[in-house]
Amino acid sequence: MAIAYIAFGSNLGEPIENFREVLRRLSRVVTIRKRSEVYETKPYGELSQANFLNAVVSISTCFTPQELLSCLQRIEKKMGRVRKERWGPRTIDLDILLYEDKEVKEDYLQIPHVELTKRAFVLVPLNEVYMEPLLLGKEISEWIRETNDFENVWLAEESW
Ligand code: ATP
Ligand code: CA
Ligand code: CA
Repeated sequence: MAIAYIAFGSNLGEPIENFREVLRRLSRVVTIRKRSEVYETKPYGELSQANFLNAVVSISTCFTPQELLSCLQRIEKKMGRVRKERWGPRTIDLDILLYEDKEVKEDYLQIPHVELTKRAFVLVPLNEVYMEPLLLGKEISEWIRETNDFENVWLAEESW
């Protein structure tokens, strides 16, 4: 079994309901270990869209990284995600942040997620569920400070 970390993001429909639905679907095929609190964040890129909810979940799974990506993409699709512009509004976005200490460098899959250490909206929830002392050589709190973006991430009113 491998431990992996998955980032959830949503700003369309009922984001909190979308998160609950993903958890239900995911828990049928992997073991959910821990989930972070749910955070509200200012959108990245296109600022005229609704705020996002973001969270991070750790899982253990027998899936390979590639199988896990397919599984997440299947869930996104079933939940009606329409792929339009990058960083645009979406019902659900599921990204693999980490998979054990594995590095994957395919065109369609990079692990660790390439933007992982640059995004406060990922690092803040990850910090609650991540087990190891260091993330890619540094404490997560140090990465968070370096983003200069943590004021755009706060605890959401709703939770799981
Ligand atoms: P970003 O990757 O910057 O967060 P995004 O999540 O909006 O942007 P998407 O449109 O959801 O981008 O995905 C674009 C492609 O990224 C997917 O088709 C997938 O093949 C690829 N991808 C590469 N690495 C990963 C990863 N670690 N997790 C999920 N998708 C990935
Ligand atoms: Ca993403
Ligand atoms: Ca994605």
